Amino acid sequence: MSSSVRVRFAPSPTGFLHVGGARTALFNWLFARHSRGTFLLRIEDTDKSRERDQAVQVIYNGLRWLGLNWDEGAGIGGEYGPYFQSERNATYEKYLNLLHAKGVVYEDQGSIRFRSSRQSVIVDDLVCGRIEFDRSADPDMTIRRPDGSWIFHFVNVVDDLEMKISHVIRGEDHLTNTAKHIELYQAFGAIPPSFAHIPLILNRDGSKMSKRDAGASVTSYIEQGYAPEAVRNYLCLLGWSPKDNREKIEIEKVIQLFDLTKINRRNAAFDLDKCYWLNGQYILQMSLRRFRELSEPFIQNSGITVSDEGYLLKVLEIVKEKIKLFKDVPDWIAYFFTEEFPFDPQAVEKTLNKPCAIERLSRLRDKYTGVEDWSAVGLEAALKQLAAEIGCKTGELVHPARVAVSGRSIGPSLYHMLEIMGKPRVLQRMDRALQEFA
Ligand code: GLU
Repeated sequence: MSSSVRVRFAPSPTGFLHVGGARTALFNWLFARHSRGTFLLRIEDTDKSRERDQAVQVIYNGLRWLGLNWDEGAGIGGEYGPYFQSERNATYEKYLNLLHAKGVVYEDQGSIRFRSSRQSVIVDDLVCGRIEFDRSADPDMTIRRPDGSWIFHFVNVVDDLEMKISHVIRGEDHLTNTAKHIELYQAFGAIPPSFAHIPLILNRDGSKMSKRDAGASVTSYIEQGYAPEAVRNYLCLLGWSPKDNREKIEIEKVIQLFDLTKINRRNAAFDLDKCYWLNGQYILQMSLRRFRELSEPFIQNSGITVSDEGYLLKVLEIVKEKIKLFKDVPDWIAYFFTEEFPFDPQAVEKTLNKPCAIERLSRLRDKYTGVEDWSAVGLEAALKQLAAEIGCKTGELVHPARVAVSGRSIGPSLYHMLEIMGKPRVLQRMDRALQEFA
């Protein structure tokens, strides 16, 4: 059974989903889920643009990626919604006629204007508190342009009425518009919804976040390979907190605790470093299955050919703790999947080009030929035994071996890497390095 709580996210399709917008969507969604209500998506596309479809896609991608599913709408392609204002002209005409009948609109140079009562309006905001707006000097607002297109305030109010929206949760930049909106509700003889205006998101230096600031666009998190659950968690903390200093908090818990009256009144400071840190925490604690899933698009795009899923899973398991962003996965794993991997010249310079390195690598290769227990433990024991026999440091075998099998000087634990690659592959790679750098 759903409750009477009905909220909506009402973005204009600009081709860009700002983190501020995503946070607004998230807070609406959290409130709906907390109250077992309904969360709608309404695309406010009365300003026609030719790229609308693409711009709407950006909104869908962002919301879907964050897991903010919406409940209702016109029903397109086997999915719910959303509502498009551009398809709702008949409804707006109907409501305009209501205002005509009440004699509160008039025509002025082709535009339709709404006659303000000029009474002061009180907004009892769930976040910002009680605010009185003096409207005595405000001009009448236009609700329809001469070309027939609608002004935001009018269609926004009509839709919230028609869709029986119980709570309008939106950015604080709309607080001053609310006085106008309440006047329209009054003209329709309707009770306005409750309002919750959430504080803006500012940069750490207090400046307003612009489109160009790093982390401003939801698309950038998708492209960089953040875990959506981490970004969603971070957005939850922008203006809300569980009050016990917890940073990493499961979404089910947030849904349970979320309340509009607990939204912080102060502006939220955006901190991309914290989001990045939180993302790292999520990755560390993530199941291998989820890690595999989130790596997939990046592996796909990298051109790495995976023919053995079991091998891939083992590889991912040992690099997992090194990964901070999923876009880095291909770079960490590519050499596991090809014999044509390049050698980093600097890594070669510091290892294989050192005196005795080739001789030592060659002895390690012979030692490993005879190893029967091809496990990280067995391989470590064999290497240490050889180091003792030669009288060198283990590092003097470890570093050349790593470069020989991977082409680089950094990577996951050498012994685990060798175990996973398997004996034939490791010996073959050592032979190649011995030939190439002898
Ligand atoms: N289309 C408006 C915006 O994107 C919606 C404001 C509202 O939520 O009422 O800012």
